[in-house]
Amino acid sequence: MSTSETVYLNGEFMPLENARVPVLDRGFIFGDGVYEVIPVYSRRPFRLPEHCRRLQRSLDAVRIANPMTDAEWARLVGELVARNADEDQYIYLQVTRGVAKRDHAFPRDAKPTVFVMSSPLATPARELVENGVPCVTAVDFRWLKCDVKSVSLLGNCLLRQAAADAGAAETVLFRDGWLTEASASNVFVVKGGRLLAPPKNHLMLPGITYDVVLELAAAKNIPAEVREIAEREVRDADELWLTSSTREVLAITTLDGRPVGGGRPGAVFKTVYQAYQEFKRKVMRQAA
Ligand code: PMP
Repeated sequence: MSTSETVYLNGEFMPLENARVPVLDRGFIFGDGVYEVIPVYSRRPFRLPEHCRRLQRSLDAVRIANPMTDAEWARLVGELVARNADEDQYIYLQVTRGVAKRDHAFPRDAKPTVFVMSSPLATPARELVENGVPCVTAVDFRWLKCDVKSVSLLGNCLLRQAAADAGAAETVLFRDGWLTEASASNVFVVKGGRLLAPPKNHLMLPGITYDVVLELAAAKNIPAEVREIAEREVRDADELWLTSSTREVLAITTLDGRPVGGGRPGAVFKTVYQAYQEFKRKVMRQAA
């Protein structure tokens, strides 16, 4: 890890190694906080208003007052991007309920802790885009508020480790026989030329990339259906994709060791992947 990164903590910019949070921070004690991850291309944050909106939704869901306006978040993110070296970065921002004597119930007067850091953004290597990635599956045993981007990620960490243990890229999750998402990505299915996506509800994170992909599919006249997807349909899919802000769109080419469709990234994936790259370039030019 580079030690020259500049981070922001509670009103101040400082080198990463100087950033300290008291051990009684409720983020540390209870995982009591929410976060966002925002990709930055050519020093321009991608879909920042949408990330701010999702942050507000998460904060509302856990009853933490937003410590900043969207304009203040935008200024802070812009300043942190400027203070870090890479053209492409990803911003991690986290708001916890703050520091208080340990008690499960909310403290009356704690001030939210605000931490923001930037890391170099490496989008997936060409090899991964061209060959796709292996995934495994697991039962989704997480809580019933998966739409909240909470820093309490123990379930997601355990599920992702199952993939790591198997030498796979991700763990695709089923709850009661229905597709939800993956440990840190959303999942799309292609069958017979149709794109299928699970509906946004309390069982999955409403991905910013998920929305972009559905918009691009519409723009490319790819028929798409947002509906519940049975495990059997996932296992019979022609194509499966992962989407996330840092991984963009990636094809899943094996699931539990069995090839997905022809075992290669499919035609619909290629169309949407290309469209995603073009869209990024267009948005970046407009923002310039
Ligand atoms: N689901 C989960 C559980 C995630 O952690 C993420 C983000 N890594 C996503 C979906 C994708 O969301 P986004 O496209 O906003 O990155």
